[in-house]
Amino acid sequence: MPPPLDTLAALDSWWLEVRCICGRTTLFPCRLLARRFGPEVRAPALVARMRCQQCGEPPVAAALVDDPQLGAPGYVGRGKPVRRVIE
Ligand SMILES: [Zn+2]
Repeated sequence: MPPPLDTLAALDSWWLEVRCICGRTTLFPCRLLARRFGPEVRAPALVARMRCQQCGEPPVAAALVDDPQLGAPGYVGRGKPVRRVIE
Protein backbone atom coordinates (compact mmCIF):
# COMPACT_ATOMS: atom_id res chain seq x y z
CA MET A 1 0.00 0.00 0.00
CA PRO A 2 1.40 3.44 -0.87
CA PRO A 3 1.95 5.88 2.00
CA PRO A 4 -0.79 8.47 2.67
CA LEU A 5 -0.49 11.46 0.34
CA ASP A 6 0.26 13.96 3.05
CA THR A 7 3.21 12.23 4.69
CA LEU A 8 6.65 13.70 4.20
CA ALA A 9 7.73 10.52 2.43
CA ALA A 10 5.07 11.03 -0.23
CA LEU A 11 5.95 14.73 -0.55
CA ASP A 12 9.66 14.16 -1.14
CA SER A 13 10.00 16.60 -4.05
CA TRP A 14 7.69 19.24 -2.57
CA TRP A 15 8.32 22.32 -0.46
CA LEU A 16 6.32 23.32 2.56
CA GLU A 17 5.48 27.01 2.63
CA VAL A 18 4.48 28.35 6.02
CA ARG A 19 3.13 31.85 6.51
CA CYS A 20 2.99 33.75 9.79
CA ILE A 21 0.72 36.54 10.95
CA CYS A 22 3.80 38.81 11.23
CA GLY A 23 4.40 38.53 7.48
CA ARG A 24 7.25 36.06 7.57
CA THR A 25 7.08 33.27 4.99
CA THR A 26 9.36 30.29 5.27
CA LEU A 27 9.94 27.49 2.77
CA PHE A 28 11.11 24.08 3.91
CA PRO A 29 12.11 21.27 1.53
CA CYS A 30 9.99 18.26 2.54
CA ARG A 31 13.00 16.03 1.96
CA LEU A 32 14.86 17.79 4.77
CA LEU A 33 11.81 17.75 7.03
CA ALA A 34 11.49 14.00 6.46
CA ARG A 35 15.10 13.51 7.47
CA ARG A 36 14.63 15.58 10.60
CA PHE A 37 11.15 14.57 11.77
CA GLY A 38 10.63 11.21 10.08
CA PRO A 39 9.14 10.23 6.70
CA GLU A 40 5.89 9.00 8.24
CA VAL A 41 5.04 12.40 9.76
CA ARG A 42 2.08 14.04 8.06
CA ALA A 43 2.46 17.60 6.82
CA PRO A 44 -0.60 19.03 8.64
CA ALA A 45 0.64 17.58 11.95
CA LEU A 46 4.02 19.17 11.40
CA VAL A 47 2.49 22.57 10.57
CA ALA A 48 0.43 22.39 13.78
CA ARG A 49 3.66 22.04 15.78
CA MET A 50 5.54 24.84 14.00
CA ARG A 51 6.22 28.24 15.49
CA CYS A 52 7.57 31.35 13.76
CA GLN A 53 11.27 31.93 14.31
CA GLN A 54 10.61 35.65 14.32
CA CYS A 55 7.64 36.11 16.65
CA GLY A 56 6.86 32.65 18.06
CA GLU A 57 3.30 32.53 16.75
CA PRO A 58 1.83 29.43 15.08
CA PRO A 59 1.43 29.60 11.28
CA VAL A 60 -1.70 31.22 9.86
CA ALA A 61 -1.38 29.49 6.49
CA ALA A 62 0.54 26.63 4.98
CA ALA A 63 0.81 25.27 1.47
CA LEU A 64 2.72 22.67 -0.45
CA VAL A 65 4.62 24.02 -3.44
CA ASP A 66 6.11 21.80 -6.11
CA ASP A 67 8.74 24.31 -7.25
CA PRO A 68 9.09 27.61 -5.36
CA GLN A 69 11.43 29.01 -8.02
CA LEU A 70 8.52 29.21 -10.43
CA GLY A 71 6.97 31.91 -8.29
CA ALA A 72 10.13 34.00 -7.99
CA PRO A 73 10.23 37.40 -9.74
CA GLY A 74 11.99 37.25 -13.07
CA TYR A 75 11.88 33.50 -13.27
CA VAL A 76 10.83 32.22 -16.65
CA GLY A 77 9.61 28.73 -16.07
CA ARG A 78 7.16 26.12 -17.14
CA GLY A 79 4.20 28.03 -15.83
CA LYS A 80 2.52 28.57 -12.54
CA PRO A 81 3.74 26.60 -9.56
CA VAL A 82 1.44 23.90 -8.34
CA ARG A 83 0.18 24.66 -4.87
CA ARG A 84 -1.80 22.58 -2.47
CA VAL A 85 -3.16 24.37 0.55
CA ILE A 86 -2.99 22.45 3.81
CA GLU A 87 -6.11 22.53 5.96
ZN1 LIG B 1 5.92 35.49 12.94
